[in-house]
Amino acid sequence: MLRTIDLRGTRPTPTELLALVPRADTDVSVALDRARKIIDEVREHGEHALLGQSERFDGVRPDAVRVPAEALQEALDALDPEVRTAIESTIARVRIASAAQVPAPEISVLGDGAIVEQRWQPVSRVGLYIPGGKAVYPSSVVMNVVPAQVAGVRSIALASPSQADHGGRVHPTIAAAAALLGIDEVYAMGGAGAIGAFAYGVPGIGLEPVQRVTGPGNVYVAAAKRLVSGVTGIDAEAGPTDILVIADDAADADFVAADLVSQAEHDELAAAVLVTDSPRLADAVLARIAARAAATKHADRVREALTGPQSAVVLVDDLEQAARFTDAFGPEHLEIQVQDPDAVLANISNAGAIFIGPYSPVSLGDYAAGSNHVLPTGGTARYVSGLSAATFLRPQQIVRYDERALREVAPVVAAFSREEDLPAHGEAVEARFAHEG
Ligand code: NAD
Repeated sequence: MLRTIDLRGTRPTPTELLALVPRADTDVSVALDRARKIIDEVREHGEHALLGQSERFDGVRPDAVRVPAEALQEALDALDPEVRTAIESTIARVRIASAAQVPAPEISVLGDGAIVEQRWQPVSRVGLYIPGGKAVYPSSVVMNVVPAQVAGVRSIALASPSQADHGGRVHPTIAAAAALLGIDEVYAMGGAGAIGAFAYGVPGIGLEPVQRVTGPGNVYVAAAKRLVSGVTGIDAEAGPTDILVIADDAADADFVAADLVSQAEHDELAAAVLVTDSPRLADAVLARIAARAAATKHADRVREALTGPQSAVVLVDDLEQAARFTDAFGPEHLEIQVQDPDAVLANISNAGAIFIGPYSPVSLGDYAAGSNHVLPTGGTARYVSGLSAATFLRPQQIVRYDERALREVAPVVAAFSREEDLPAHGEAVEARFAHEG
């Protein structure tokens, strides 16, 4: 089902490697015009525009955009106990792992009485987007809210599209997850309109602008995030998901096949790539994929994803070449299923999250590992990271010099101020010592 690319005996450049397995084309720029109109509509007409957009795109007009607090509590009361336990378990794990992402404050002593401190300040208010067009993702509520809470964000608003089956409110499981996390500011709004509402605020319903918007979504959400960046901070624009597995002869072919199929299930445009130095394993995985893909619930979607140009089996000479390919690809999810995974790990730089060994499948990370599942897609792992507590924090430097320390660097300031023709800069320092003659 997956095509095979044989790299054995070749030494392609990173650019050539990337061209061999191109990501699916989701051109955000084509959605920009439409997203801009939708955002402008929200800026002009506020709640009225948002209600109309729900009617147009989600097939239902809610009574109001803000979900009443009682509705959140009711959804929590009605939540299936097994689902509640699962959400609570993930909240606890993600909370622990997110706490480790908060950097400690640092003090640099540059000399006697010369100190630069660095502290990490949370943004004060964030808008978290939980997709809800084709499916519901209570796990994404946890993955967005918990790091923001751990970072110390004081004000958290959450948006998810109106659901026609639920009277125009957000999906009850989303509402219940929000309530479990103590979030009471929830809006039934989706797509570009929701992102615009977060960025510019909606005065009529008391929705204050946020300082950062995060969360995955479809192409309209990604386009809107691009448009509002500059007005508000954003996390990465999410595209179709991907998985890359590095496996050697020691790997279990069925585990590898199951994991490739599990990510192909997300989306017809999802990429699933196996990189191996073992032709025997490649054949065994392909056989298991054929069996699993035929039997799985979303067989059509899986087949389309696995037969697309974005998916492949890549045969390499050795695991060093596997690592070079992986770094060029920059997978969102990387699994390393080889005899000595740490040796491969040491050669990897570009990946959103890395899953080691046969008992760390990506779907564990999607729901329950404690790691965050909002990760950089489309090869952007080459320069950005996934969502974490750090997403909501800014480093801030605090300068404390005493008189003696300032006197010591006064000539440095004077020299720069002359060179840059900004004499008042030098005078500001000299003023402190003018009385000394
Ligand atoms: P969504 O909430 O992103 O989009 C639904 C909204 O899109 C609608 O409410 C509407 O406002 C807007 N919309 C729909 N059709 C439109 C149109 N023709 N014109 C303008 N706006 C329109 O939900 P979705 O569509 O299901 O997409 C969710 C995406 O998020 C999927 O690609 C999924 O794979 C991804 N996802 C990623 C992660 C992750 O962690 N990376 C997690 C969950 C979901």
